[in-house]
Amino acid sequence: MPKYTPPVRDTRFILDRVIGLDRYANLPGFENVSPDVVTAVLEEGGRFVSEVLFPINHSGDQEGCTRHEDGSVTTPKGFKQAYAQYVESGWGTLGAPEAVGGQGMPHVISTAFEEYMISSNMAFAMYPGLTHGAIASLLVKGSPEQQAKYVPKMVSGEWGGTMNLTEPQCGTDLGLIKTKAEPQADGSYAITGTKIFISSGEHDLTSNIIHLVLAKTPGAPDSTKGISLFVVPKFLVNDDGSLGERNAVSCGSIEHKMGIHANSTCVMNYDGAKGWLVGEEMKGLAAMFIMMNVARLGVGLQGLAVGETALQNAVQYAEDRRQGRALTGAQEPGEKADTLFVHPDVRRMLMEAKALTEGMRALCLWGALQVDLEHGAPSEEERELAGDLVGLLTPVIKGVGTDIGYKVATDAQQVYGGHGYIAEWGMEQYVRDARISMIYEGTNGVQAMDLVGRKLGQNGGRAVQALFKVVTEEVAAAKGDEKTASFAEALEKALGQMQAATLWIATHGFKNPNDAGAAAYPYMQLTGTVALGLMWLRMAKAAAEALAKGAEDAKFYEAKLVTARFYAERIMPDAGALRRKVEAGGDSIMALDPEMFRAA
Ligand SMILES: Cc1cc2nc3c(=O)[nH]c(=O)nc-3n(C[C@H](O)[C@H](O)[C@H](O)COP(=O)(O)OP(=O)(O)OC[C@H]3O[C@@H](n4cnc5c(N)ncnc54)[C@H](O)[C@@H]3O)c2cc1C
Repeated sequence: MPKYTPPVRDTRFILDRVIGLDRYANLPGFENVSPDVVTAVLEEGGRFVSEVLFPINHSGDQEGCTRHEDGSVTTPKGFKQAYAQYVESGWGTLGAPEAVGGQGMPHVISTAFEEYMISSNMAFAMYPGLTHGAIASLLVKGSPEQQAKYVPKMVSGEWGGTMNLTEPQCGTDLGLIKTKAEPQADGSYAITGTKIFISSGEHDLTSNIIHLVLAKTPGAPDSTKGISLFVVPKFLVNDDGSLGERNAVSCGSIEHKMGIHANSTCVMNYDGAKGWLVGEEMKGLAAMFIMMNVARLGVGLQGLAVGETALQNAVQYAEDRRQGRALTGAQEPGEKADTLFVHPDVRRMLMEAKALTEGMRALCLWGALQVDLEHGAPSEEERELAGDLVGLLTPVIKGVGTDIGYKVATDAQQVYGGHGYIAEWGMEQYVRDARISMIYEGTNGVQAMDLVGRKLGQNGGRAVQALFKVVTEEVAAAKGDEKTASFAEALEKALGQMQAATLWIATHGFKNPNDAGAAAYPYMQLTGTVALGLMWLRMAKAAAEALAKGAEDAKFYEAKLVTARFYAERIMPDAGALRRKVEAGGDSIMALDPEMFRAA
């Protein structure tokens, strides 16, 4: 069976030496973040998830959720108790504002904890994960009454939250939504329609579930412009906060799916359910986007987190399993065979996984810091820069991060050979679980289109220029230091490829939108390659400084320097090929009609 150890040392390295949390003590929420508090969160949180959530990960996958005749849903054995412990110990309240019962911790700290939680049990982590997204929407767009009524109990974990966008005929294209919202005399709306694939739509973990639902009011345009957002509780909430009558929303079925079996994916039927408008009518998509942006960063984290657990186990397996001899001659002549660890091809997979996973951890935490800066930095200029970087990097963290998570999970499975395909070893679950993160919250193709079609051109390209400036300045500084100079030169080349690809899209994309559409995916990967390159430059610099100061644990820092070199030599060169794919345009992609596609 797999094991999981929260990577506290690596998280600490990023927070303390790469990001340098102490530099942000002037930001709201950071004043309480002493090194001792960070240690307590990471170590205690890590202990909680590995002792309480990890042991029910495999069993939860095997058992799955059960829907009963009356529409109720039971989560797998142990989930209810684990959730009660999660609520009681307050882990869910880390990042929420103090005014609504949270601990007011910076986003960068709650993100570090969330990685551990997802690593130990992704299906479990989705229940509070969806709730956090719903809270974010209500805090920005909800009325003071709605906030007072719902948010504190969602923050405490007493109630759950969901997001209801998808319908049978509409997934990516939300303009096709059919769910109706009829205004009622009492100011509420009657919500009628069917939503599908709703994560955590019905379960037994919380006493109430607060659904955020997209629907159209009578006469609204039949497009995304006509969408409004509604809050629809499973149980109506009385003025004194107690639970009232059951609302007309129910789970019609749960999906039988490839992975995350322990998270209930529900068909939700709204039969004139009572709902209340959140924000303005026909501005629903903007309100839902607040939730979706939180969720997109959270889904990117899923890629990192699942990959981390898979990698940890693959490394252990490669150390334990003996097959063949090292190419350079027997390493352990007393044994009948050497371990898998001696083979360069096995190391290739492990090194790629290590470089990508640790790079993603740095990127997710830096991205989370930008969210904190966007809201709390003292100057308008800093807030604007952080907001630009968050906007630009959100589709990259989601799209590239989850592609990486799936790749790492399948490579880790590959290290196990045939045993990786067998359920009892647990690796195939990571592959299945990781797969969905590339699909939901906007498929990765849609993330790429968001990057190229929206984010790149916003404010005259201000965000991408800001990223170029950050990378250029850090490369220039690192080139002057012999320990980081060769890495900086490799990153400079990759940046040059990205700048050329950006210019190509800017000049060709408007003339032929299919060129931009065809360029989107490789451009997203190219941006990811540069963003991870920036993270590895920072990590290499921090590791070299730590070694120069004679830090303990020299092997950890030496490993960082070797992994940075691996990234520069074996991953960063992909930037050139990705640029060529961008510049190839859309002609060969779009040339075949369906008849020409068929070879048979
Ligand atoms: C397990 C699971 C949990 C989910 N949880 C939720 C949830 O909690 N709430 C919720 O509302 N939804 C949820 N979803 C739905 C999920 O977000 C959608 O499945 C996803 O957004 C894609 O929509 P679709 O399945 O209709 O695919 P489609 O939109 O039909 O897309 C099919 C393919 O076409 C591509 N495509 C479509 N349009 C375009 C375009 N304009 N440009 C380029 N490519 C395009 C897509 O990238 C995809 O590859 C969940 C789905 C699953 C499987």
